[in-house]
Amino acid sequence: MTDHPARYWHPLPDGRLQCDLCPRDCRLHEGQRGACFVRQMVGGTMVLTTYGRSSGFCIDPIEKKPLNHFYPGSSVLSFGAAGCNLACKFCQNWDISKSRDMDRLMDSAGPADIAAAAARHHCRSVAYTYNDPVIFAEYAIDTALACRAQGIANVAVTAGYIHPDARRDFFAVMDAANVDLKAFTDDFYVHQCGAHLTPVLDTLAWLHHDTDVWVEITTLLIPGLNDSDAEITQLSQWIATELGPDVPLHFTAFHPDYKLDQIPATPPATLTRARRIARDAGLHHVYTGNVHDPDGSSTYCPGCGQVVIERDWYAIGTYRLDAHGACTGCGTPIAGRFADFRGAFGPRRVPVHIHAQNG
Ligand code: SF4
Repeated sequence: MTDHPARYWHPLPDGRLQCDLCPRDCRLHEGQRGACFVRQMVGGTMVLTTYGRSSGFCIDPIEKKPLNHFYPGSSVLSFGAAGCNLACKFCQNWDISKSRDMDRLMDSAGPADIAAAAARHHCRSVAYTYNDPVIFAEYAIDTALACRAQGIANVAVTAGYIHPDARRDFFAVMDAANVDLKAFTDDFYVHQCGAHLTPVLDTLAWLHHDTDVWVEITTLLIPGLNDSDAEITQLSQWIATELGPDVPLHFTAFHPDYKLDQIPATPPATLTRARRIARDAGLHHVYTGNVHDPDGSSTYCPGCGQVVIERDWYAIGTYRLDAHGACTGCGTPIAGRFADFRGAFGPRRVPVHIHAQNG
């Protein structure tokens, strides 16, 4: 189960094929792979070379995606494949995203296998994560449909760099997304990621206004590159104005990695400063991540101000929401997707091996 007919491409007059999946618009000769490495022109057609192959499966707490307002405390079966359509110099998963070695894809698992494993392990959702699932859209969509058939939700962890036609199909089967907003300047996207800012903002606005997908946003703050007061203010104001104050925003800490190993780790004070700026801009739910900060990890009621979900790393303490997500103190509804809370999965990560049986 490897090469799979790809969608989202068209032939060019010179015999090449143009991929229409993401705004990189790769134009491929016979045998050539796109910038993501996993889509290839083979025999005059386009194929996805990683269908049914994964870099591994783990069960995580949903808070690790991070999603703090999507069935808090639930467990999610997470998997990814290889390659990526962005080229972030600071990638924190570069062994997967920059992989040119398909042998890394140890686990072979079809959509039905994944849905069955999620059901067997009582996961509320499956996350398409680790590398950007946009590039394995056909595999993600088929898996998401299999999961939905079993009552399991789907979560995309993505940079949101995808053309509108493919975006419509991809997110039609997703229930939640954490979208990276990597910075708020096109210069950063061009020079650090090999991409552009505008398509990401388009995806965020479209998701919020035109779909039912629950959306949270993550910005990895990198010292000296995207952590100025001015840029954090602009980013936060854009979210507040264009998406509204209830969209959660996660500021996470950078650790020296990949091509940016000469830049120091993000000081916790930077995350606290960013959180204050974003809250001052009117956002109700602003979180810090990758650092130990119980205040910045917890959820507060925008009505009465009390802690409604207390977190320490990925562990949940006090929980003060009813089954519909309303504050038990004042009744204010908290934005998100909630259910009766019957205890949390906990902070652990559990590796899962999936035996492929079905296509
Ligand atoms: S999905 Fe891959 S092949 Fe297609 S345009 Fe994007 S980077 Fe290129």
